[in-house]
Amino acid sequence: MSSSREELTAEQQAALEEAAFLVVSARREAAELIARSGVPRPDDGSGFGTPCNAHIEGFGRCPCNRYKGDGEPCRTKVTLDPIATPVPVSSCGHPPSKHVST
Ligand SMILES: [Zn+2]
Ligand SMILES: [Zn+2]
Repeated sequence: MSSSREELTAEQQAALEEAAFLVVSARREAAELIARSGVPRPDDGSGFGTPCNAHIEGFGRCPCNRYKGDGEPCRTKVTLDPIATPVPVSSCGHPPSKHVST
């Protein structure tokens, strides 16, 4: 695969986001199933998580670790500067495709 994201058409991008959302949804359902059954979660929280891999300018990796939304940009609240007062909290705002590690 040599094509970059920029070369995708809007339709292809939409398909990509839809596919990513399906993956994220499946993982979320799996995580909820496990939580309901009372199985202890692994300490690292990985396996069924959907962490955001987006890079934020001047910060680094997005601290969001769970996609929340319905195929649109993520609505999980993240803290980008825990040292600041008051602590600024904003939405992750990244699309489902950023929450699918490949
Ligand atoms: Zn997110
Ligand atoms: Zn994010």
